[in-house]
Amino acid sequence: MNNGNIDSKPLRILHVEDSPMDAEIIREKLIDSRFSVSLDWASNEQEYVYFLQSGSYDIILADFHLPGFEAPAALGLAQSYCPGAPFICVSGAVGEEKAVELLKQGATDYIPKNGLDKLSLAIQRALDEVRERNERHLAEEALRKSEERHRTILHTAMDGFWIVDMEGRLLEVNETYCRMSGYSSQELLAMRVPDLEALEDAGETAARIKRIIEKGQDRFESRHHRKDDSVFDVEVSVQYRPDEGGQIVAFLQDISQQRKLEEQLRQAQKMEAIGQLAGGVAHDFNNILTVIMGYANLLSMKSNFNASEKEAMDHIISAADKAAQLTRGLLAFSRKQVMDAKPVNVNDIAQQVQKFLARIIGEDVKLKAVINVAILMVVADAGQLEQVLMNLAANARDAMPEGGELTIETGLQHIDETFIEHHGWGKPGRYALISVSDTGCGMDEDTRNRIFEPFFTTKEVGKGTGLGMAIVHGIVNQHNGFIYVYSELGKGTVFKIFLPLLEKEKVAEIEKRVEEPPKNGTETILIVEDDPSVRKVVSDVLIDSGYEIITAEDGQQAIEKFSENRTRIKLILMDMVMPKKSGLEAYREIRLLKPDIRVLFTSGYTADFIQSRGELDKDAELIMKPVKPHDLLRKIREMLDREADD
Ligand code: ADP
Ligand code: MG
Repeated sequence: MNNGNIDSKPLRILHVEDSPMDAEIIREKLIDSRFSVSLDWASNEQEYVYFLQSGSYDIILADFHLPGFEAPAALGLAQSYCPGAPFICVSGAVGEEKAVELLKQGATDYIPKNGLDKLSLAIQRALDEVRERNERHLAEEALRKSEERHRTILHTAMDGFWIVDMEGRLLEVNETYCRMSGYSSQELLAMRVPDLEALEDAGETAARIKRIIEKGQDRFESRHHRKDDSVFDVEVSVQYRPDEGGQIVAFLQDISQQRKLEEQLRQAQKMEAIGQLAGGVAHDFNNILTVIMGYANLLSMKSNFNASEKEAMDHIISAADKAAQLTRGLLAFSRKQVMDAKPVNVNDIAQQVQKFLARIIGEDVKLKAVINVAILMVVADAGQLEQVLMNLAANARDAMPEGGELTIETGLQHIDETFIEHHGWGKPGRYALISVSDTGCGMDEDTRNRIFEPFFTTKEVGKGTGLGMAIVHGIVNQHNGFIYVYSELGKGTVFKIFLPLLEKEKVAEIEKRVEEPPKNGTETILIVEDDPSVRKVVSDVLIDSGYEIITAEDGQQAIEKFSENRTRIKLILMDMVMPKKSGLEAYREIRLLKPDIRVLFTSGYTADFIQSRGELDKDAELIMKPVKPHDLLRKIREMLDREADD
């Protein structure tokens, strides 16, 4: 039969009772009960303390009046030596007041000695209570552990976590959010959502809370302030909990990095698109410029103009030159353009460009040039570098409507590992440095981060195109250089351009190729060009210099004309991009007829040429459109003379 004990072990009972007789009566009662018991009996305080110290008990029974001490003291001792064990007072009449007092102090029960029948019931009740208490304790412990686990998960989670009340006050935050925001949890717990969200409209938070309550949950993107005032993008998923007066639980994921990558991709796509646009425009535009330049040059070489007519011609030629520079600049930032790169001294460019710059910046801005004493040779397209300086000067002027100072300074800069580490960019080596600084309005960080974007402008419609800095950036890149901007609102702006320095030995080597006026010739040249006006001007230029010419309008015709005249034709001047058969396709077939034929390709677009470079042999060369007559004649002469040497 189940004796009622929790685990069938005997109940360990300590009984403190000064009357041996009463002790015996109670012992018998206990033995007769349905419990199996192991009983210790203490007759005084000393024995009682001894037992308490040496054993542990399931239940303590105590008389009220004991020699030298009373039940409250016995209870106190039991609570300190054997905490949690039920304490039942079994006593003669003590008066209700004292019994109640004892119960208040923590005794489990009070049984009068004349009601010992109730003793086993009281014991059972006490044991049940203990069991319940234990179970409750276990459940609480489990709950506490699980909460602790949850807390650990929340705190170590990748995402930030908040609990927010209906007024937007933060009630709980995890460490991840502290790390994201730079605030301590203490600081955050004294803040409200609007203190953290970088929203333009302050009413937005309240409206959002309302929406979350209505929908029960929500997911949205937002932007938060860090403690250091920088901002970061977050994706927030929230859930409304109606309990405890309403709370919102929020998980916050830092998506700044993702945004940045997206932005970079968008940027790259934009650059690509604009490069294509520029390339397309340049193709047609360069053909037009070839015509303008060709005829202007032809005319000015031939005619007997009077002085003012001569000047007008020079204006046409220099305007066409500038237009050509512009298309080159446009192409430069999409890296689709071959540079006319030669060794140049950066100091010369800085000096030459000064009179242009003075015109650009107007009278209210003072121009200062600090030219370095060293010779700063770089391989560069002088026209492009001039354009860089002019674009920078134009921006500086716009930044100083009230006047100010524009300073151009050249110098030598050594970039080493320490420099790279400090700035986060660069490549070791020696560089020519051009810095352009103004005392203008400066830029805030957002503007500074975007200035190189094509079409990014802060100027009103009609005043800015947003292309100036994009072109600068493209040109500097194409020269394997770096550009660095330092600017603060109200404090002006400094641009620093680093161009790889050309070492002395190389300079001499390149400079040996001196420029001479082109020589005439009598050879026959096949001109293949689909644009009639370009075909015409190139023909005229060549005829003018003594050459015989045959023309073709496309690749197909070129092949036909060549096979009819293959012994006469010494060189083919051929456009790359043409209808029916491209220059490259015609080249392949013609080479089958005559493997060592000289071909000079013309193109407005280097990409075409670069892509096919592998297929072309050394007899094929490229000249960029718009073609300047002198350059063309010189190149043709050079190629023909080379053939004669063979
Ligand atoms: P645009 O001059 O047509 O606006 P840019 O590409 O030349 O286009 O310049 C882009 C933007 O960069 C300008 O609109 C201006 O906000 C900023 N910027 C460029 N240079 C400066 C400067 N020196 N001082 C202040 N802001 C500048
Ligand atoms: Mg500009």
